[in-house]
Amino acid sequence: MHKPIILIYGPVGSGKGTQAELLVQKLGVVHLSLGDILRAKVAQNTPDAQVIKDYMSKGELVPFHIVDDIVRQRMEEPDVANGVVFDGYPRALEQAMTLVKILQDQGKKVTHVIAIKLGTDEIIERLSNRRICPNCREIYNVVSEPPKVEGICDKCGTALIKRADDQEVNAIHERMQVYQEETLPVRDYFAKQGLVHEFDGNQGINELHEQIYKIFE
Ligand SMILES: [Zn+2]
Repeated sequence: MHKPIILIYGPVGSGKGTQAELLVQKLGVVHLSLGDILRAKVAQNTPDAQVIKDYMSKGELVPFHIVDDIVRQRMEEPDVANGVVFDGYPRALEQAMTLVKILQDQGKKVTHVIAIKLGTDEIIERLSNRRICPNCREIYNVVSEPPKVEGICDKCGTALIKRADDQEVNAIHERMQVYQEETLPVRDYFAKQGLVHEFDGNQGINELHEQIYKIFE
């Protein structure tokens, strides 16, 4: 029986990070967000780290071969033995095929691909209600998941902020388009292997989690 290696996809605002965290709690897998992996690497201060830092500071994508090497190394570490949930990776067909090879070399495979679906209008609606803690990154929704005290993070007491681009509807349309272009080929690739499970993202965090969790029972 293969340990779960899960890929989770969803447009910005779909709550995929939250769903990934809930899977971590229930399944004992490790949450591997590509951004976090890269930031951890940069913090090591090695010569490779400087290269990655240069790309990130310019706001450019870190080239695939660098990312793939880091993922390969990360997947050899002992803490991922019980499985992982990848968040934000792979983001292109070529990268998905490389991941499959990396895992194959290690006797592992992608076991589940979770696709959270949410329309652009729903995303805009959600983002305008979203508040983020700039300190601990906790995310709130003023309608569906409000903090106990308005404007203040429950966890650490920091004043919540609205992300600057949240009101920019055009930016959201653009991001949605990029998201579709990047992830559709990846999803098709794994769909042919029967691994993709689609979920309606327009529901509460717990309801969505319950639906997702069913595929692991
Ligand atoms: Zn906080």
